[in-house]
Amino acid sequence: MEDCVFCKIASGEISSTIVYQDENVVAFKDLEPQAPKHILFIPRRHIASMADMTDADGPLLASIFTAASKVARELGLEQGYRFLTNVGPQGGQSVSHLHFHLLGGRQMKWPPG
Ligand code: C5P
Repeated sequence: MEDCVFCKIASGEISSTIVYQDENVVAFKDLEPQAPKHILFIPRRHIASMADMTDADGPLLASIFTAASKVARELGLEQGYRFLTNVGPQGGQSVSHLHFHLLGGRQMKWPPG
């Protein structure tokens, strides 16, 4: 999608530190890390948010979770981590391209802010 920063990262038009990619999923380091390890997982195809997913996106979602599990293992996060997506303005979503945050390397708190 034109003018979508994450579409541009997925296509390579904007550079990022990519830690995982396959035909459907890209994972890269967050520019403003909120934990010692902070990776974003996105579908290559533009989907605005979780609210826009359909039944047909089930396999894509499985690929994203499987990729995140693999990357978390590679990052040595055996003590645990958090994996989440923000949805819409009240959910704290600032980029309108579906993305999941993998956060680890420190003790997570609950409830989140
Ligand atoms: O969930 P939310 O939409 O707020 O998350 C967007 C995330 O994308 C932020 O953590 C921000 O630091 C990250 N970001 C990035 N590179 C960009 C733009 C945003 O890593 N070029």
